[in-house]
Amino acid sequence: MNNPFENALAQLERATSLVSFDPDFLRVIRHPNRQVRVSIPVKMDDGRLEVFEGYRVQFNNARGPYKGGIRFHQDTDIEEVKALAFWMALKTAVVNIPMGGGKGGVTVDPKPFTDGEKERLSRGWMRAMAEVVGPQQDVPAPDVNTTPQIMAWMADEYGKITGDTSGAVITGKPLDAGGSEGRGTATAQGGFYVFESLRERLGLPEQCTVVIQGFGNAGQFAAKIWSDAGHKVIAVSDSRAAVVNPEGLDVAALIDHKASTRSVRDFAGAETIESIDVLYQECDLLIPAALENQIHEGNVEKIQAKVLLELANGPTTPEADDALFGRGIPVVPDILANAGGVTVSTFEWEQNVKGESWSEQDVFEKLKVIMDREAVAIADRAKELDTDLRRAAFVVALERLQEAMK
Ligand code: GLU
Repeated sequence: MNNPFENALAQLERATSLVSFDPDFLRVIRHPNRQVRVSIPVKMDDGRLEVFEGYRVQFNNARGPYKGGIRFHQDTDIEEVKALAFWMALKTAVVNIPMGGGKGGVTVDPKPFTDGEKERLSRGWMRAMAEVVGPQQDVPAPDVNTTPQIMAWMADEYGKITGDTSGAVITGKPLDAGGSEGRGTATAQGGFYVFESLRERLGLPEQCTVVIQGFGNAGQFAAKIWSDAGHKVIAVSDSRAAVVNPEGLDVAALIDHKASTRSVRDFAGAETIESIDVLYQECDLLIPAALENQIHEGNVEKIQAKVLLELANGPTTPEADDALFGRGIPVVPDILANAGGVTVSTFEWEQNVKGESWSEQDVFEKLKVIMDREAVAIADRAKELDTDLRRAAFVVALERLQEAMK
């Protein structure tokens, strides 16, 4: 598997060969400011003590406090977290919010954990990291396998340690623990605004057939949002299986099925296929919403979508990007397409800092303005540079970062 940080640096090199940047800036921006690794001992329910490895990579804070999620996954390691932190620094610059980029993680499969075990792991992560995070320093959030409840445990632990109970240390909290309206759906909603503002330019019809890889937070809300808007969601997957129905899936029933059986597998009214095969379905729009490195040199020729929109971080390798570009298949890149999540996170942080609480309508109006504006700016830049949307998004983000670092 490609090292995600090497992929990120390859993307950086491709973009910076198009537009000239200060060589000193380019030398610095390849390196994270700080990388923290900790051991987190957790008492399991059966009395055993297990020790997990946890990470926080603080990539760049020239534009504001470090910002980015925490991932609990068995394959997470420091290289992955470093890549994700770098992408966060670019993502916050793409949407021009006053935040830097960071990311955290724990190497663990939390799926078999009881709530008590998850709580002790989450509080343990925050105990180990309390001295490096903070509302004006570094503001974590959810990512793969981490939930609003986990954010609430972490915020509570931070409050106990430091006395700061504003909640502004972490975003993606439940509403009654200082969370923001709209944060749960924000990643998918932001992606949908980008899709709507670019749909015609991307050559897509008014009603699209949509395929979604991943049925976690981003994937489930994407399925709901696209189908509520009249598009036809014909296939989705999770880590265990995929389900396909060319006539369209009943998304609400599928979400219930997933909640009760923990998988999309064997959903009535659809054919169950191998999880990975979801990527190869013919469709207008393919939305990778799972993990990185899913579309690579070895499988890119099997892609039959007209357009890709990345709700996952890093799902397409640089080699696959080139192959898709060569075939005229646009890829709306992660650092634009999924930036709605961190944008509403920043709204949450602002509400906590100011002691305010905004309505859902306010949140989505503000989000739409930002996503529309930046989507159009990046598409225009891609046209001007005669390049793909990823290179253009990198150029826009790097220019803002360079300006801030000066
Ligand atoms: N984990 C999300 C991302 O990759 C959200 C980060 C945040 O809200 O800070 O963008």
